Amino acid sequence: MRLQSKLLIILLAVTVLSFLFNILISLLLVRNTLLLVFKEEISVSGDILRRDIEERGRELERWLDSNLTDSSSLKSKLQETRKRFSFWKEKKISYLQENWQNIPDNKPPLPLFLHNPLSRYLGSISQASLLPIKRISVADETGFLLAFTKKPEHFLLSREKWWEKAKKGSKFVSWDGTDMCVIIPLMEKNTFLGVVKVEVEAGKLFRTLKFFSIGETGSAHVFLGDTLLISSANWKGKGGSRAILTGNEYIRKKWKLRFLRSRQLGDWRLVVIQKREEGLRSYREVFYHILRQFIVIVIGVALLGIFFSRRVTLPLRKIDKFAHEFASGKLSTRISIKTADELESLAHSLNSMADRLQENLKTLREQKEMLEEASEMKSTFISAVSHEFKTPLTIIRNYAHLLATGKLGEVNPEQKERLKKISTHAQYLARLVDNLLNFSRLESGEWETFFTKFSLRGLLEKVKEDFSPFAREKGVEIVLQLPSRLPSIYSDPFALKIIMDNLVENGIKFTLGAGKVIIKAGKEEGKVKIEVEDMGIGIPEGEENRIFEPFYRVDKEEARKGWGSGLGLSITARLVELLGGKIAAKNKKEGGSIFLLWLPLRSGDTIEKGGKDG
Ligand code: ADP
Repeated sequence: MRLQSKLLIILLAVTVLSFLFNILISLLLVRNTLLLVFKEEISVSGDILRRDIEERGRELERWLDSNLTDSSSLKSKLQETRKRFSFWKEKKISYLQENWQNIPDNKPPLPLFLHNPLSRYLGSISQASLLPIKRISVADETGFLLAFTKKPEHFLLSREKWWEKAKKGSKFVSWDGTDMCVIIPLMEKNTFLGVVKVEVEAGKLFRTLKFFSIGETGSAHVFLGDTLLISSANWKGKGGSRAILTGNEYIRKKWKLRFLRSRQLGDWRLVVIQKREEGLRSYREVFYHILRQFIVIVIGVALLGIFFSRRVTLPLRKIDKFAHEFASGKLSTRISIKTADELESLAHSLNSMADRLQENLKTLREQKEMLEEASEMKSTFISAVSHEFKTPLTIIRNYAHLLATGKLGEVNPEQKERLKKISTHAQYLARLVDNLLNFSRLESGEWETFFTKFSLRGLLEKVKEDFSPFAREKGVEIVLQLPSRLPSIYSDPFALKIIMDNLVENGIKFTLGAGKVIIKAGKEEGKVKIEVEDMGIGIPEGEENRIFEPFYRVDKEEARKGWGSGLGLSITARLVELLGGKIAAKNKKEGGSIFLLWLPLRSGDTIEKGGKDG
């Protein structure tokens, strides 16, 4: 991934995370605040409503006290009316008292109830009042109904429970459906005169509650015990009254409830509720607002991020381009960065490093050229000197040989021995000169190969033949172990002869006592494998590769005994390479060393270095 993208992703991730955290905190705060405000609103509205209702209750009470409980005119009207009914009472009293539920035939005429002084009084006070009084009924101390403002169902039969209870002497409130019934016993100097029952339409009395609402869903409810008496008009919940009061799961989850108790007019309860959703409605708006801001900020940060990360990564890309160009050889390339920071100073350092490197490389190149020149001169010198050595050496060798034969005059055995030494050393020198010539030709790249198809068997037999006298002299036997069918090989016979000469010569040279040098050859996986095995001193461990370096000779007494220049194996290795082959040396467990050589069978093939057995 590119640095710019990484920077951008980090920047965005940090922004998004911190912003999300902020959003979370703000949303929680907003939510809690909204819920608090919401709860407060319900409380305040509920309290106002309760005070209002209580005020209405007090108003009713005041009215009841002044017009009924403590009213002397009521009492006098009551006495007066009682007299009117005395005829009836005298006549029927015993009957009424015993069978008062079943006297429809003998009941006093209705107008007597409606138009007596007491009824008129009740009618006038209820009409004058603004309170929603449905009916006022008065019964005497026997429970006989004396007057009422509106006809009750059983207008004669007032000895009901409320009368019984009122006889005990205290005022109380009971409910008949949604009608509130205030029962007031009437007393005159500890004498029980009768009972007044005032039926008030609660719905109308608590008119404020009817019209109550908070927002869209906020409503109020009045309960008496578990029974819902009235709900505000905006309440649309079906059958939810009990749920409101018991506060079941559904209501609790979706609504906010507020219970307000009052004993003013009996043990009723005011419940104000509102949907939580409504309280949290603005919460959604806040959420979307924050979300919009979030999107705008993320886009903004992304754009800024692209801008700034480009500013940071552009110089880095310039540096990268510079490094690539420089590495690919364009040494004159330089970086130009103007950021007035560490990157600019890095660019300066890189430029001066490039200057120095360019200069050093120039010097190195010049020195290399000089060295090459010197090496060329050395090669030319070696080959010139070697050439000059060759003819005199041949003459010395030939003359020493001729003299030793005695053809030019008698030589005694001692002289013959010296002449033989001259010849042998001249021969060593000639081989050294050959090696030097070959090496310098290979070094200067002047060696030319001549590939042809020839018999490998023939070449190996020739090697054996050439080295047999030398081997015999040292007590060493050369053994050729060749398969009956050895394929012809396409290679350079001249180069291969030098290779094999070197290997076999070393085999003989480094076998100190009697022994064998075994030459094996055969086909292996489309290649020719030749092995030269000896019973000599072996190669010191870890030097199996170094022996192929020019002028390298193992630093061991036995290894330095014989004649040697340290060039043979390096020439061998270079020739093997020219032939497209591979060479390796290793020691045998039982002593002695073994040189392995692989050559391609056909023209154009090469064998990879470090391959099998390599
Ligand atoms: P030299 O002219 O000394 O033989 P070479 O390049 O042929 O030079 O060999 C390098 C060195 O490798 C030798 O001096 C010798 O120490 C070691 N060496 C080469 N062939 C053998 C061998 N068959 N047995 C043991 N040591 C060997």
